[in-house]
Order: sequence, then structure tokens, then C-alpha cells
Amino acid sequence: MFEKILIANRGEIACRIIQTAHRLGVKCVAVYSEADRNARHVALADEAFLLGPAPSRESYLRVDKIIEVAKQSGAQAVHPGYGFLSENADFARALEAAGITFIGPPVGAIEAMGSKSAAKQIMEKAGVPLVPGYHGDDQRKELIKREADRCGYPVLLKAVAGGGGKGMRVVWNEKEFDEAFEAARREGESSFGNGDLLVEKYLTKPRHVELQVFADTQGNAVYLGDRDCSVQRRHQKVIEEAPAPNIAPEIRRAMGEAAVNAARAINYVGAGTVEFLYDEDGSFYFMEMNTRLQVEHPVTELVTGQDLVEWQLKVASGQPLPLDQSQVKLGGHSLEVRVYAEDPDADFLPATGTLDYLRTPQESRYVRVDTGVIEGDEVSHYYDPMIAKLIVWDESRDLAIRRLEQALEAYQICGVKTNLQFLSNLAGSQAFKDFAVDTGFIERNREALFVREEIDEERYIALAACYLTLARKRQASNPDDPTSPFNQLNNWRLNATQALPYELVHGEHRYAVRVLERDQAFEITLNNTSFKVKGRLDGDRLDASLNGHRFSLSVFQKAEALTLFHDGRQFQCERHVEVYGENDYGAEASLAAPMTGTVVAVLKEQGSLVTAGEGLIVIEAMKMEQTIFAPHDGTVEEIFFQPGDLVDEGAELLAMSQAEE
Ligand code: ADP
Repeated sequence: MFEKILIANRGEIACRIIQTAHRLGVKCVAVYSEADRNARHVALADEAFLLGPAPSRESYLRVDKIIEVAKQSGAQAVHPGYGFLSENADFARALEAAGITFIGPPVGAIEAMGSKSAAKQIMEKAGVPLVPGYHGDDQRKELIKREADRCGYPVLLKAVAGGGGKGMRVVWNEKEFDEAFEAARREGESSFGNGDLLVEKYLTKPRHVELQVFADTQGNAVYLGDRDCSVQRRHQKVIEEAPAPNIAPEIRRAMGEAAVNAARAINYVGAGTVEFLYDEDGSFYFMEMNTRLQVEHPVTELVTGQDLVEWQLKVASGQPLPLDQSQVKLGGHSLEVRVYAEDPDADFLPATGTLDYLRTPQESRYVRVDTGVIEGDEVSHYYDPMIAKLIVWDESRDLAIRRLEQALEAYQICGVKTNLQFLSNLAGSQAFKDFAVDTGFIERNREALFVREEIDEERYIALAACYLTLARKRQASNPDDPTSPFNQLNNWRLNATQALPYELVHGEHRYAVRVLERDQAFEITLNNTSFKVKGRLDGDRLDASLNGHRFSLSVFQKAEALTLFHDGRQFQCERHVEVYGENDYGAEASLAAPMTGTVVAVLKEQGSLVTAGEGLIVIEAMKMEQTIFAPHDGTVEEIFFQPGDLVDEGAELLAMSQAEE
């Protein structure tokens, strides 16, 4: 086994590799860009080297620098992770020349799988089934058209050098051929410098099923089960699971054997993935082979009980595969979702920002979180916006889905937009539970997946007001000691009749809220609704009882913005401080005009007895009415303005005497 390896990657995969390496007693060298100085993978590694500025081509893609660092640090091998240089034959070649082991397949295998048509030719020879079509060198248009006609429409034209869904065109009938042909050719030329095309029968409801294969330097090769990654958006995977549901055992075995044949055909070594299109009728076709560890490898780990990074390190250091095919056993069901900083409602546009608040579900034998970030980290536009992978396992698919739903509910992120709600909708949808899944799943189920549940705003506003009041008391009683008994509601008996007004805004809606304490509970009034709320604040956790219904939520406050997390849902609102600042709650200040405006109503007469929280006078500014409430029980002594009068901000509106205690 190696003594020291370098990890030429960042984020969750770098952290995940370090974890296994450390368990095996292997030291780790991290590399990082200027944007990643404080990143988790740097902190976890035994040593770390700066590569350069944030953009990948100036840091994580710098072959020369990485090799220099490997030499300098004495690393015997380099793990490329996924993405970046993981499938770059030049990088593997340069490492070889420097006498450093590449933890991945031989250069020849990477190159063989680099072109879609060349890969197909190899697979055809190895007897691996291909989608009916044409992948020859003769690129004359008439010939390609004849092949398309022979396949029968619809067909798919693919740029042989394509990737990431680019240079692909579906042709639904003969008439569309010319235009699609020209478009695919142009796209291939402009994006990949190669306009060569191949033709494939277009499957209208395929699933994406892939096989994890592993081979060692001694000629052994096995498959470690399959994964279904059909739930995709823009040809990118959203949920992956193992084993792939609803596949007959003999077909599963045939796919596994085909995948091992594919690996053998290119003298493969290490971890690889053979991707198939799986048709409704049980036929499957080779699509491509990825010559690296995949993002979704954890689902295979959880059903096989194996650590694939450990396998990679063993194979790369010359050891044989830990298991032969007969020893590979699968148990239970595993699902993975990719938690992304993105906006599902804006066509999954990547989002950036700071992870101001981050709570992950409790890890256990059922729940695993692979992540490279901690609270306070930045999600920048330089790299993939993946925040984490959430992986669950249980005895059956149904149970695993339930674990996933619960874990998603416990995942709380504030500061950047995420796809958490979308993932919850997905995991909770009946269609997913029934496994009515193919690559068109998300498009077909748009209505169910993009809904936003109606939430009872008033309840959340009342809870927000309860939180603000408790947080204020906590600060007042002991600003330095959050564990002080005075921070618990039960011990608080100051100003029992004091009413606190808040102005809370949620989206377009503004709420004037009044909080009154009575009998160790709050009476919280907004609009025409009153809630009886009890609450206890413990750190960011609020244990509340709302009209007798008890539950817990977490609250994150940043300046005036509040985020309440409850039941997998997020509710955001903002406190308007220009109206009621922290100091406006005292008896004096709250009788002053909070803004410059016009008096529209005087609600009490001189000499009236009022109780705390009763409305006294209403002023209006910028079409917004503001009621001034009695801050305590007492008598209205004098009123200084009449309806219609203009008042300046801060002007004393009336005078009140305080009732005797
Ligand atoms: P890329 O290399 O650009 O990612 P792939 O060949 O891997 O392209 O295909 C990407 C996705 O396109 C697949 O996961 C599948 O959803 C879809 N796809 C590819 N080939 C076909 C086909 N013949 N019929 C139907 N869908 C296909």
C-alpha cells in the first residue's frame, strides 16, 4: 500500500478519498485554489499546496503544477477523483513519465473510450449489445440518411466527440433529417472540433442503468451490481439507486457479464462504469464507459458493504481485487440525491452564495452525507454547485425512500437557493414510489414535482414573533450566557403586561403583530387572528406550543431576516426596523410617531382606561397604515393630534400614565 497519495481534486470527493486513505494509514496531500484556502478538504489533509487562482484551468486543471507538487511532497500516487483531470489521458501519461502511479485505468483504456464511435467499434467486437445504428467512418450524408431510414424513426444523431448532451439531435421522421443533420454536424464542429456523426435508434422511454466494474492488474474483473440513474434533468442525474429496480435476475446477470466483457476488451484496470440504455422490453444497449469513480458510487458501497476507494487504492498498489464474483453479495436498497445550489424553478440555474446556516441529517447506518463544505463556506461560480450527496440505505426500496424523505426534512440550508424542496417532492411523489421511472420522468411529472405547498403564513408569522420575543428576553436577561435559566420562558416574569409590536413582512404581505404576555404564555395577534403561544428557546431550536399543538422548529436569524425550518419546509420573513427599532418598545418611545405621515384615526379619547396592546392612534405614510399600541396598562392623559394632522417622525402623539402594579 502507498504511504502517501496526492488528491488532485476538491470538494466532497477529495474529503471522501481522504477519509478512506486515513483509515488505511495512507497520508494525504491536498491541492487547492485561492478560492479554496479554507476548504474542508484542505483542513482534512495532512498537507496542502496552493495551485493558483480560482478558475479551474489555472488551478485544478494545471497538469504541470500538480505533478510538481506530487514530486515535491513525495506522493507515490495521485487520485484524480471525478471531473477535472480524471479522464484526461495526457495527465495519466505525464504521471507515468514522472514515475508516479495514476489511481485509475491505463492510458490506453482512457483513450479507447474517448470517442463514442471508436468505443462502439470495440464493444461490437467484444459482443456487447449496441443500440441499432451506424457508427462507421464513411460520413457522406446520403449514406447516413440511408442508415437512419434503415433504423426506422425516431433516430438520434450524435456527434462522435460529443459530451454533456451537446451535439445530439432527435429526428422524429424522414422530413426532419436534413435540418437535424446539418445542426448536429455544426454543433459537433463548433463544440468539439469534429463534425462526424453516428446514428442510433432513439428509444422513447429508456432507463439509464449502469454497471460498476472493477479489474486488477492480475487479470481479474468483477461487477459490483448495477445502479439506476434514470431520473435526470438536462441529461444530468438527480437520483441514483442500487440495485436498479424491476430487472429480471437473468437480465441483470447478462448486463453484468457484458460490462465485464467491455472492461476486458480494453484491458481495463481499476474502477469503471459501463452505462447502458435499458428498454421497456428488457433489452439493453451499451452507451458509454466512464473510466473513473462515479459521483454515485456510494449507493453501490451501501448495498455491497465495500469501500470502492479502498479497492482503488489496493488495485493501484498492485494488490488483487478483494473479492471474486461469487463473493460479491448485495443487500438492501440504497438511494442517493445530489443536493445542489440551484434554482429548480429557473430551469435549475446554478446558484451562488454563502452557506449561512447549514444543518445536515444525523448520520447513521441508514444515512450518509458526503460533503466538502461546512457552515459559512461560499458556493462560488467557479466550481460545480454540488453542496452534498445524501445517501440512504434500508432493507427495501420503500423503506429507503422513507429514510430519504426524513433525511431531506432534516436538511436545512440558508443563504443559497437549493434543490432540497424539489428533491423532497421527487422522493415523496407517488410516481417515484411506484418506480414509473425513465429518462423522461421529470418532464412528465412537472406538475407534481414543482408544486409548492400552500403554507399557513399566519402561523409562521406568529412563531416568528414568538421567537423574536424570546430571543430578546434571552439577550436582556443574560447576553453572554445562552444557558442561563433566565433564558427560559418559565423564569421570566418581567413586565407581565407589556405588549410588543412587530412589523413582519413575508413576500408581498405585511403583518402588524402584537405580542402580549399573559400567564406565562404569549397572546399573539395579527390581522384578526389570535394565537396562544408558549415557547422555549434552546440555541436555534424553538420548542413551541401553538394553540395547544406542540412541535419544534429551528430558526436562523441574520440581521432582520428570519428563516424558520419546520417539517422540511422553510419559511422566510423579515422584521421591519425602520418602524419599530429595538428601542421603540419602551413606554416613551412607542408613543412617538414611528415615521413621518398623517394621522388617520384616533381610537381612544382623553381619559380612557386602556390595557397593554390596545390600539391608540393610526397614522399613514406611503399608503401604509401603522397603529400605535398601548405599551402598558394605563390612562390616556392627553392626545396631541387630530385626524388629518401631519406628524413628523419621532413626534410625541399622546401621553399616557401607567396603571399601578
Ligand atoms: P453525453 O456523452 O453527451 O452525456 P450520452 O450518449 O451519454 O451523451 O447520452 C446522454 C443521455 O441521453 C442518456 O443518459 C440518455 O438519457 C439519452 N440518450 C442517449 N442515447 C439515447 C438513445 N439512443 N435513445 C434515447 N435516449 C438516449
